[in-house]
Amino acid sequence: MNMDQNIVSKSHSGDAVVKLAGVVKTYGQMNAIDNVDLEIRPRELFTLLGPSGSGKSTILRAIAGLVSIDGGQILIEGDDVGDVPTYKRNIGMVFQSLALFPHMSVFDNIAFPLRMRRAGRKEITRRVAEALDMVQLPNIGTRKAHELSGGQQQRVAIARALVYNPSLLLLDEPFGALDKRLREEMQLEIVRLHREIDVTIINVTHDQVEAMILSDRIGVMSDGKLVQVAQGEDLYRRPVNRFVADFLGRSNCIDGTIRKDAAGTQVITPGGAVFTVDAGFAHMEGKATSAIVRAEDITLCAARPDDAALTGIAGKVDLRLFEGEAVYYEVKVAGLDSAVRVASKSGEFAPGAEVWLSWAVDRVWVVGGETHA
Ligand code: ADP
Repeated sequence: MNMDQNIVSKSHSGDAVVKLAGVVKTYGQMNAIDNVDLEIRPRELFTLLGPSGSGKSTILRAIAGLVSIDGGQILIEGDDVGDVPTYKRNIGMVFQSLALFPHMSVFDNIAFPLRMRRAGRKEITRRVAEALDMVQLPNIGTRKAHELSGGQQQRVAIARALVYNPSLLLLDEPFGALDKRLREEMQLEIVRLHREIDVTIINVTHDQVEAMILSDRIGVMSDGKLVQVAQGEDLYRRPVNRFVADFLGRSNCIDGTIRKDAAGTQVITPGGAVFTVDAGFAHMEGKATSAIVRAEDITLCAARPDDAALTGIAGKVDLRLFEGEAVYYEVKVAGLDSAVRVASKSGEFAPGAEVWLSWAVDRVWVVGGETHA
């Protein structure tokens, strides 16, 4: 078999590279994947983000053909891959457990998938050198895998996944075990690689910052369901429910009811505080809602500023923590169960201080109360 026959040509059309339609995977009574529809676009870097156990890896493994599905369809470049074994799906994979062969040389590790595909010697030499260049590790082919640093091993694992030129690269938390600095370095490495080579990447992580940094789009998962798919900034600014808002950074979910009157569209909290929201939320009038305000969008003031673009509520400082870049406050508000969290640039208020929590009206996002659970 000629190596190049095994390389599926890459899709440059607008069609989805990977399409999941109504995919279900059950383990006993539980749906690890619960009726998921998803389309991954050509050359996209897509991240599945969610807490542990939400079904991210199971989706990745289903795409790779490592787990069978119990319902729905998976298409890769237009073809239903239900009966296609993993090795014929033309997919590169990197997992947290890298599965490098420790006593083999770097060259032999990377050459392994090419040899499995019966590539010729010259081609192997050329492709391994190219793959090592790609991950910025030239001239280490003769080293043994176990002699390399953690970061170098990650790069070798990526080189091995890319060496046969797959159209799809799957990353299952490959950097999860690395320390923070190395993890950040590898994240930037993935961004660089994705810019330089023609490959679609699906990444899995529970780290919202990683998802934001890397991804063209993010799919947020909860209990086997895909809750929201959007660009990072949209998810952050316009989450569909409290779960997504909570998962992406420090947010405050302030429960209340929407009211519309001459003063505008407002939220009334159970404690009787009133603040203004965008008129676009007027259609939720009378409904139980959660207003989502990001910790970094709140300013602590000694008194209410006189500015129609600003709104807010009164509270009392409960906790003040110096974090270096910001000062973190927790502020108690009458009638609210949880304290309001604030990430402030200045830190002049001490616990016990009466303060006004001020934020711009256009920085509040309101979601329906049916998602309160
Ligand atoms: P995540 O990647 O988001 O951490 P997983 O996809 O690994 O989540 O798991 C989703 C759910 O499916 C979890 O509840 C997990 O316990 C369950 N699960 C995954 N693999 C198996 C398996 N082989 N047997 C039984 N349950 C499994």
